[in-house]
Amino acid sequence: MEKKIEIKKYINHQNQKLFDELSSVYNIELYLDPSMNSWGIDNNEPIIRTPKDDLNIASFTHELLHLYLDYQGLTSKEHIYYEIFNIHVLMSINRAMLFDHIYNVSCHKKIYPIFHNLGFQDKDFVQNNGFFFKRRDYLIIKTCRSLNIMSKRWISQFIGHFFALKNDIIESHEQYNRKYLYKLAKLDKRLYQIIYNFDTKWTKQTDLDCCENYLELSNDLFRWLKENNKIKK
Ligand SMILES: [Zn+2]
Repeated sequence: MEKKIEIKKYINHQNQKLFDELSSVYNIELYLDPSMNSWGIDNNEPIIRTPKDDLNIASFTHELLHLYLDYQGLTSKEHIYYEIFNIHVLMSINRAMLFDHIYNVSCHKKIYPIFHNLGFQDKDFVQNNGFFFKRRDYLIIKTCRSLNIMSKRWISQFIGHFFALKNDIIESHEQYNRKYLYKLAKLDKRLYQIIYNFDTKWTKQTDLDCCENYLELSNDLFRWLKENNKIKK
């Protein structure tokens, strides 16, 4: 059962201005929701949820910043998923999960600098700061690819891990992440290049209209899947 939480205790000198600005447009609500795995915000709603009333102001602010991107005109996830992405591409990857992940970490690229400027610590940006991509994951991708099996799985893992590694802001992870990015690049140069191009363009871009970015990603992936006979009918 969810229970409404008083927001005031999650506001401090770091996020007050941001909260005030957003509150002038949105009716922001905070709920205790033990069914959640971590802090989160509803799609297209100013409703923030947390599994624990843990007074984690950094996590609360992180979710506020997701709302801030919407406020600033970020293209919605639904629009990209339903209107932009090629259905054959979606059918050839673990679509919902992978797509959520790509969209989420791409948002983080824009959220993190603001979070940092508000004076929060890097280690508090996301709650789980461990290494997600291990040698074992890499070997699974490599083996499936060379045996030409479970293509939906390895392609999704390849893309998903690229985005996770590229958007990890923890400084002490840098060398480790770079090593695995290099390994992925060597494994499939063209696939790597496609997602690298998307990531680079999005990093440099200052506005938040990402229709073109995702359209290009979808087209490039479609071409790559076709050339590699990976289109699922
Ligand atoms: Zn987030």
